Amino acid sequence: MTNLKPSDKALVPFVSVDQMMKLIHHVGVEEMLRGLAEYIEADFKRWELFDKTPRVASHSEKGVIELMPTSDGDVYGFKYVNGHPDNTKTGFQTVTAFGLLANVANGYPVLLTEMTILTALRTAATSAVVARLLAPKGSHVMAMIGNGAQSEFQSLAMKAICGVDEVRLYDIDRAATAKCARNLEGHGIKVVECDTAEDAILGAQIITTCTADKQYATILTDNMVGSGVHINAIGGDCPGKTELAPAILHRSDIFVEYPEQTRIEGEIQQLEADHAVTEIWQVLTGQAKGRRDDRQITLFDSVGFAIEDFSALRYVRDQIAETGLFQPLDLLADPDDPRDLFGMLQRAG
Ligand code: NAD
Repeated sequence: MTNLKPSDKALVPFVSVDQMMKLIHHVGVEEMLRGLAEYIEADFKRWELFDKTPRVASHSEKGVIELMPTSDGDVYGFKYVNGHPDNTKTGFQTVTAFGLLANVANGYPVLLTEMTILTALRTAATSAVVARLLAPKGSHVMAMIGNGAQSEFQSLAMKAICGVDEVRLYDIDRAATAKCARNLEGHGIKVVECDTAEDAILGAQIITTCTADKQYATILTDNMVGSGVHINAIGGDCPGKTELAPAILHRSDIFVEYPEQTRIEGEIQQLEADHAVTEIWQVLTGQAKGRRDDRQITLFDSVGFAIEDFSALRYVRDQIAETGLFQPLDLLADPDDPRDLFGMLQRAG
């Protein structure tokens, strides 16, 4: 158990990967997904008061490094995250992240945490919040195309929050599918390993695409998608990186997090800049309609927005206050006289 005293104002609570994993086991992965979903939904409902900007992206041939800031006026948060689709070939992950919360009143950080695992959880929780809103009533089968790092989290969030009881897995790499199936054993969800994407979407009311490839890929062609499904498109989240054939977009009602960012990064980069989309927060607050009928195709063009990370950071801050699962980090210089920074340095010598 770690505790910070008020006098430790310059020590920042830091949650390591190990402590994050302990926290998830302590809370329970499905319970944590539900908790994160509650925080995300609460923040989406107060969407208008947040500072919002498309994330700041630094692109290279191999991938992207991004900063994702936002503030609700009291608390400021940001996430550092990378996306490098070829990384797994050399033993690195496609996506890694860390994040920070700070007190707006004095600018002092109040939390620094790993966010690689937390991003997978928050992305999955967001997918499920949106699917609960838009998927056809009684949806219980999900196709999961792309069985990499995010896939088990996506599957479990859909189970915990939307009542999905069967996932149909497909990946071009059979080892990834086998890994996902193995990891989902014992989680109370039926898992079917499929040979093709067509096979995976048979009988599925929810189709999640979560592949990593730095190109305009076609994971789903138009003829594969029937009416009355909800598509949860996660993987296309960068300029030049999409997963769906444009014809599918023309048949779908498209729902997005923050249009200014999604038009740059999402599936809709393939459409005219004025193509109509609906913002999720407006559906959550009752200002816009979600699913209209059973035959409609709803598409969540997910790219991941800063407010979801802010919600996840808030959730972790509240949890560590109870569990003590953090360590104090000597991150901020703290001279006795705030103006005597040099004196503090000299005395240390
Ligand atoms: P990962 O590299 O661990 O897994 C990707 C999987 O996709 C791999 O197993 C790969 O074999 C498979 N794949 C590639 N092309 C395929 C194809 N044509 N058909 C079927 N499978 C294919 O990556 P990850 O961490 O699971 O992330 C997946 C994607 O999701 C990445 O592009 C990442 O940037 C994105 N992502 C989005 C969000 C969001 O908020 N929208 C959050 C996190 C990650």
